[in-house]
Amino acid sequence: MSTAPLRLALVGLGNVGTGVAQVLMHQTDRICHRSGRTIQLQRVVVRDLAKPRELSLPRELLTDDWQAAVHDPNVDVVVELMGGIHPAREVVLAALAAGKDVVTANKALLCQCGDEIFAAARQSGRTVAFEAAVAGGVPIIAAVGQSLAGNQIQTIQAILNGTSNYILSQMLLEHQSYGDALGQAQQLGFAEADPTLDVDGTDAAQKLTLLVQLAFGTRVPVSQFHVSGIDCLDQKDIQYASSLGYTIKLLAQAKLVQQRLELSVRPTLVRQDRPIAQTHGPFNAILLEGDVVGPVWFSGRGAGQLPTASAVLADIIDLAIGRSQLTFRQFDLWGARPAFEVAPPSELTSRFYLRLSVEDRPHVMADVTHILGRHGISLASVIQPESPEVSGSDAVPIVPLIIMTHRTSVGALQAADAELEALASIKTPRVCLAVAG
Ligand code: NAP
Repeated sequence: MSTAPLRLALVGLGNVGTGVAQVLMHQTDRICHRSGRTIQLQRVVVRDLAKPRELSLPRELLTDDWQAAVHDPNVDVVVELMGGIHPAREVVLAALAAGKDVVTANKALLCQCGDEIFAAARQSGRTVAFEAAVAGGVPIIAAVGQSLAGNQIQTIQAILNGTSNYILSQMLLEHQSYGDALGQAQQLGFAEADPTLDVDGTDAAQKLTLLVQLAFGTRVPVSQFHVSGIDCLDQKDIQYASSLGYTIKLLAQAKLVQQRLELSVRPTLVRQDRPIAQTHGPFNAILLEGDVVGPVWFSGRGAGQLPTASAVLADIIDLAIGRSQLTFRQFDLWGARPAFEVAPPSELTSRFYLRLSVEDRPHVMADVTHILGRHGISLASVIQPESPEVSGSDAVPIVPLIIMTHRTSVGALQAADAELEALASIKTPRVCLAVAG
């Protein structure tokens, strides 16, 4: 192992970059001791040199020229913390071509350009470390890639988006509407000004594809599995689910079923006594099941300056020691392992929660159960809250009908839903949520 200083180009001094620089500057002895060598900030790249910074850095370290930083012969490792696809992709590829190892927290980049980046790393014999790209401070990449390497992972069940989890917690615990909970998340810095990718499930789906790549050796584009978010959830469903003994979570799931991979990201009812249902606020939680170890549980902060910096620092220390290089070479990442087949979304099976808005008159219940029955969907429970008597009015009241099904396929449910839609006695919205097994 080299004892020469490991010299870094930090490309990005925003939220995460500032956290990393802070720890490197204020915990120098600890980091040096754990790495067995000095870790030195050689260059720090920003977009706007005039912007005031939380951190006072020697002026000569700062530059707005990423090309110069990446090609600096005195830089060993490029830490990409700028985010986005361009120029992050160009930074990473240029760093690898110049013979530098790379650390990145950029899941969007790995999701979109992972093939290209890992091929470039293999070709140049360099390493790409990305612990911070999934679940922030929770060391899940190391767990799957190293600590559980003797297992075939069978199941991943996870909360991977802290913003959505914060909003769902506020809706459940404080009875806030979706809009109010989102507004509060934005005020507290748990949600971006444009929260679309967090609340529509995309962010969780991108993280799931990285975990699936590592755990199952199978690259699955986000377009190949069902992804929905919490953006159309109603407070009513949170409360109905709660009265049935469930909590709604944005669950990212991957399951190996008869050698086929079943993947989904969707709001899901989870029994209240499960640890994942009790994970509230901006936290992430991941339940893995390995064929040797059984279930293993992880939870912690999935984002934020210092939790994410913690993961980036772990990658830097692993590179300084040489551990990352060994593991990376052993990974069959983006490589040649025979991939598992991916089950078409319509063949996934689950129990489901349905909330229909129906006219309160004879035969409606019979029509609904007849349609569901014809598609082989059997009912576990049906609740229709009483509606107040309306006297002197011809208007037929609209009432909610809550149905919990037994296990059925998404395809059967979609076919039944098309028929329910055609019934004049069934109004919108028709809500359908999966129930975790
Ligand atoms: P951020 O606060 O927006 O910071 C981005 C930094 O990159 C800024 O310092 C910016 O410079 C610099 N930058 C952007 N474009 C540049 C360009 N073209 N040339 C030079 N510098 C440029 O982002 P962040 O929240 O720290 O996130 C960084 C990465 O970590 C992202 O990939 C993100 O997905 C990932 N991540 C973040 C979190 C989190 O909690 N924030 C959690 C997990 C993973 P200026 O300062 O001059 O604008």
